[in-house]
Amino acid sequence: MLKGEIIAVGTELLLGQIANTNAQYISRKMAEIGVPIYYHVSVGDNEERLKQAILQAQKRSNLIIFTGGLGPTQDDLTKETAAKVLNRRLVLDLPSFTKIVSFFKQRQIEMTENNKKQAMVLEGSMVFPNDHGLAAGIGLESDERYYVFLPGPPSEMKPMLIHYVIPWIQKIDRGNIFYSKVMRFYGIGESALEECIIDLIENQTNPTIAPLANDGEVTLRLTAHAKTEEEALAFILPVEEEIHHRLEPFHFGYGNEEIEYVVFRLLEQLQLTVSVSESCTGGLIGSQFTKIPGSSKVYYGGIICYTNEIKHKILHVPNEILDMKGAVSKETAQILSEETLKLFDTDLAVSITGIAGPESVENKPVGLIYIGISEKGKETMVKEIRLSGSRQAIQRRAAKYVHYYLWQ
Ligand code: ATP
Ligand code: MG
Repeated sequence: MLKGEIIAVGTELLLGQIANTNAQYISRKMAEIGVPIYYHVSVGDNEERLKQAILQAQKRSNLIIFTGGLGPTQDDLTKETAAKVLNRRLVLDLPSFTKIVSFFKQRQIEMTENNKKQAMVLEGSMVFPNDHGLAAGIGLESDERYYVFLPGPPSEMKPMLIHYVIPWIQKIDRGNIFYSKVMRFYGIGESALEECIIDLIENQTNPTIAPLANDGEVTLRLTAHAKTEEEALAFILPVEEEIHHRLEPFHFGYGNEEIEYVVFRLLEQLQLTVSVSESCTGGLIGSQFTKIPGSSKVYYGGIICYTNEIKHKILHVPNEILDMKGAVSKETAQILSEETLKLFDTDLAVSITGIAGPESVENKPVGLIYIGISEKGKETMVKEIRLSGSRQAIQRRAAKYVHYYLWQ
């Protein structure tokens, strides 16, 4: 199994003159092909410290990816230092050298001796052509470790990585695949969710379980390491089932499936229709439904009842309720959803009223939200939730809660 490390070489990185975007890019691409990167190291253009970095990497990694320091100048010493540590000679790669010679010829510039340096490669290595510059890249196997040397300029590094290095790494990694499955949850915070499965998170090695919170939603990525996809899935399945069992009320979907799609499919399957009256979300829920093609089978329409006047005039919330209890109240939410149900004659209706902020209203705190859910022939339910964040974040999360309650 590959264990990757990236060594970015360049004093400008340490001086804060440039950000190490190469490490980020390489890491992301490695993650996409399922090769884990465990360390990022940055080191200056200094032979001794680079040597130490290589020796350290050899102790803990078997795929060591260098970026930077392949250029023609004296301070570019990545290959030279690696050659010493690995005890390999540097030899001239003829195709790279020919390319450099013709580059200078074409531009009618004198080629200096140190340009030859860019065509030198470690003996026994694989040469990755540089389609956007002069310094060749290198791939090398030595003592069951793999070394990759990439140029520093992102415009040269990126295409080389994509076109030559990734296929090379994938060949090495053959028979070792990573397979991930993402489980999605709503209505529970990240720490509460983690607490429910902390024993699983701590004890699992294959698959590993990685939680991620985003916009009020929590996802768990289960990643298994195996010979085949089927084998990986077989590792994942029992863990997935256990997690599902413990967190069933919150587990709405998988992968990149948004909750509104899950709700839409569910309602479509059950042949149920829905309408919405939205105060604090100002049409967001309607917009989320209508971005799904064919949504009219399920979503009949809605009313944006932003002001009290509209709540009263169109959805018949009595002025006494608005005055005494307020627009953001259980009572208002209940009447809104019941009236919406009547008006649209749908199977289900939901209402949402709340305080998105930044100012509090009616002496009630920002983030207080009421959601009414009415269903034909059933008693209306009203949920109270409290959210935090910016105005937009509260609106987004509140809208998601509407979908979440519909899904339940
Ligand atoms: P050159 O032939 O241009 O000298 P090189 O392979 O020797 O290429 P460096 O000299 O280390 O690369 O870096 C050249 C330029 O590439 C830097 O000035 C910087 O703009 C960019 N660069 C280098 N390393 C990184 C990095 N880790 N992340 C982002 N950009 C980088
Ligand atoms: Mg350089």
